[in-house]
Amino acid sequence: MQLTRPGPGAAGRVYLDHNATSPLLPEARAAILEALAAPGNPSSVHADGRAARRRLEHAREQIATTLGVGPEQLVFTSGGTEADNLALLQVDGPVLVSAIEHPAVLEVRPDAVRIPVNADGIVDLAALDALLEERRPALVAVMLANNETGVIQPVAEVARLAHAHGALVHVDAVQALGKLAFRFDQLGADMLAISAHKLGGPVGIGALVLGADLELRPLLRGGGQERGLRPGTGNVAAAAGFAAALACWDEGERQRLAALREQLERELLARVPEARILAAGAPRLPNTSCIALPGVAATTQLIRLDLEGISVSAGSACSAGRIGRSHVLAAMGVEPAVAASAIRVSLGWSSCEADIERFVVAWTELARQLTRAPALVSAMMRPT
Ligand code: PLP
Repeated sequence: MQLTRPGPGAAGRVYLDHNATSPLLPEARAAILEALAAPGNPSSVHADGRAARRRLEHAREQIATTLGVGPEQLVFTSGGTEADNLALLQVDGPVLVSAIEHPAVLEVRPDAVRIPVNADGIVDLAALDALLEERRPALVAVMLANNETGVIQPVAEVARLAHAHGALVHVDAVQALGKLAFRFDQLGADMLAISAHKLGGPVGIGALVLGADLELRPLLRGGGQERGLRPGTGNVAAAAGFAAALACWDEGERQRLAALREQLERELLARVPEARILAAGAPRLPNTSCIALPGVAATTQLIRLDLEGISVSAGSACSAGRIGRSHVLAAMGVEPAVAASAIRVSLGWSSCEADIERFVVAWTELARQLTRAPALVSAMMRPT
């Protein structure tokens, strides 16, 4: 399916921050509106309730089928954060997490021991093996793809090692869903967190996917919804939007994004030799580029681009507008000065060639002005 709807975003802006949140796909919007127009609580026994239930279960089945699991293996949540929390809070024993996890994992179990990553941002399997031996964890969490760099992790290998030591495996696939073709069983995970709004679905819905024989301890109490695993009235419209958005993703779309990202990086490097693409040599999601311009603060770039009508982010924008030092780039051993100059450009279904061209022109101009500035200042300060 051809996904792209080329053309500028709202008010002529260029939106290149899909890893923060992607605009709502028209297909998702249509599914949501249709579901919202129908009355009914999916737990009610009358005809309206049963119709709502059918809609909810249809969405569950569609998403589950894409992941190659049964519908009973998918528990809807309020998003990726809740799905990660639910997974991490399943065990009381020691936990290992990769050093590049999202705060939705890292902050749930602050006691977790961190598995290092190499300079490409890929989890160090030898270090994991040693930690498994030493710590005997109950759970290991490694994300499928990182939100800042797009680097794809060898989760099947992680799962093999962790299972050999009797640990459960949780995979945060919030950024990978849609942008990477995978089935649950290929990952070898016991639990998988997904979220709708990173791929063009609505904000406020996600799911935890479970291995067929896994017993889940609910975090919330107060109702029998989601087989008692996640009480609360089912969000039928959001689930319908999630399923409709996911159905839009296919190999053609992934290749289209990969080609756009390739064009972006090639043109930037050709025009700005100081530019660095972080983790360029690692397997990455087709939509994400982490670009450093040593000497020019990421916030400065962000503001300049914003004034030019272009939205990107500095590192991860997932933490309430906080721009601190990126723990991901720090874990990769990126020098602090380079990390502080890194921005994240993330493409999605609405991205088109014109967006890339506008970004390249704006960023090249910014780099031309700002990387020359220090030399100019020091030349002016030189004693005559
Ligand atoms: N995990 C990753 C890797 C993310 O990038 C995000 C983004 O916010 C989350 C989890 C949280 O997902 P949500 O915004 O659906 O709670």
